[in-house]
This record gives sequence, C-alpha cells and structure tokens, in this order.
Amino acid sequence: MSSFSKRNVIEGLQYARELNAQQWRDNLPTWCPGCGHFTALNGLYEAANKLKIDSKNFVVVSGIGCSGRFPFFINGFGLHTLHGRSIPVATGVKIANPELTVVVVGGDGDGVGIGGGHFPHAARNNFNLSYILLDNNIYGLTKGQISPTSPLGMVSATSPYGNVARPLDPTSLAIVYGATFVARVFSKQRDLVSDVILQAIEHRGFSFVHDLSPCVEFNKLVTYKSWNDRVQPLPDEYEATDKITALQYAQTTDPIYLGVFYREDSPTFDDYMAHTRKQALKK
Ligand code: SF4
Ligand code: MG
Repeated sequence: MSSFSKRNVIEGLQYARELNAQQWRDNLPTWCPGCGHFTALNGLYEAANKLKIDSKNFVVVSGIGCSGRFPFFINGFGLHTLHGRSIPVATGVKIANPELTVVVVGGDGDGVGIGGGHFPHAARNNFNLSYILLDNNIYGLTKGQISPTSPLGMVSATSPYGNVARPLDPTSLAIVYGATFVARVFSKQRDLVSDVILQAIEHRGFSFVHDLSPCVEFNKLVTYKSWNDRVQPLPDEYEATDKITALQYAQTTDPIYLGVFYREDSPTFDDYMAHTRKQALKK
C-alpha cells in the first residue's frame, strides 16, 4: 500500500467519525475507506444544517451504484431507484410537492451512460432541484468496467486492450443542456465541495454539481493524485455568466478547472406550470 493510499484510508475513517456527530447522519456509510463519496455526503450534511432544512422536507433520490446508497445515510426521505432513473423519479417528487428540497445523487455510469437521456430534459425544463454527479470515471459497484467518462486508452475489466471511446465531460454537457447552475468540484477539497453544494441547493432552478470523486478500489489510473496534479480554481476574474466562455473552461483538460462555471436566474418549471394553470382557468 503506497503512503498516498494509507492517507486515504485514514481520511476515510476520519470522515466516518465526523459524520457520526452530525444530526443528519443515518446509518454508517458502507463505502470503502477513502472513497471520494464521503466528501459529497459531508457536503450535503453541512448544507442541510446551514440551510436549516426540515428533514421532513428533504428528499434524496439516487440510482444504482455506490452513489446509490446516499439515501440510506441521510436522515431525511430517500428513494433508491432503478439504474439511470433517478432524475425522472426526482422530477415526479418535485412536481407532486414543490415545497420539498429534492437532491438527486448518482454516478457517471448512472447519469451520463444508462440514464443519459434524462439529464438534458431535466436541465432544459429547469426543474427546481439539485443534481450531484459523483464521477469516478468507472463503474465501481460492479468492480471496474469503463464508464462514459473513462479516459481514452484506459485498461479495465471490459477494455483489456484500452478504452476506444472518447470520454464525455458532464460539466460541459450540463452547460450545453441548459442547466441554470453548473459547477465542478473535487472530493479532496472538502470546503469547496460543501460550499458549492450549499449554493446548488439554494439556487432556484436546475443546479448541477460535477464532483470528481475517486474510486480508490477499482480505478488505479484516475486517482486523488492524478486529479490533484491537474485541478485548478477558475481564475479570480472569471464571471459565471457566459455560456461560451463557460464551455471553453469546462472543456480544458489541463488544467481541469474547478468552481461555478455558469449561473442564471430564469423561470423554473414550477413557474411555467403556474402560468399554464392560470391561462387554462381563464380559457
Ligand atoms: Fe467508493 Fe469505489 Fe469503494 Fe465504490 S468501490 S465505495 S466507488 S471506493
Ligand atoms: Mg462511477
């Protein structure tokens, strides 16, 4: 075991202990020590605490994968749905009761592979919910197959001679799909993750957080170290208001920029529905 992975184990155990102290904790997370997902879970706890969300009005919806376990670890309502179907279920929850704070959590395979068809429509409808995509560039739960975000040439259980498909970048997709809040974070930077998740939940409309969240068990190519060597905050003078600029920064792979790429205030799906109801009644 390298010194780096030893540190990951220690950090993982430390996170688990700290999570114990939070009122939002429910069940001890069962992820591998050092898994990047601990950071986003901690960020969700902190955001829920700071925003003083009533646990009766907090719903976490997940798909399948290691990230799919999120609802079990949060003291609120949760739905562990089918693979790739967390977004449509979450939009149904939100439409049924717009008062709820709804957060969708999923992995790269779940979100831009198996459920890839749902993401654009949630974004372009500007549903008032938050989507946290935990990207480890691999299918972790099923022990290491290439995913839609795996790098070209990556050797895995399903690509013994190297991945031949070019990777998708979820941040860029969210910008192009019309999400009204788009950010990228890295699980090694706990403060950034917590701060951005809080901003995403506060945002009115569809907010998207792309979390680079290493799988310490099955991805030996894309790791804390390999990402840590490349990530960089968006420049101080960066303004998150222009889509073309946002896309240019999102598409840059060296460095990989972190921060809030884009945000806009626009009517949400709820607003359009209220308008539609009014027009229909008038008629
Ligand atoms: Fe995390 Fe990978 Fe372990 Fe799953 S297999 S819990 S993604 S480290
Ligand atoms: Mg994955």
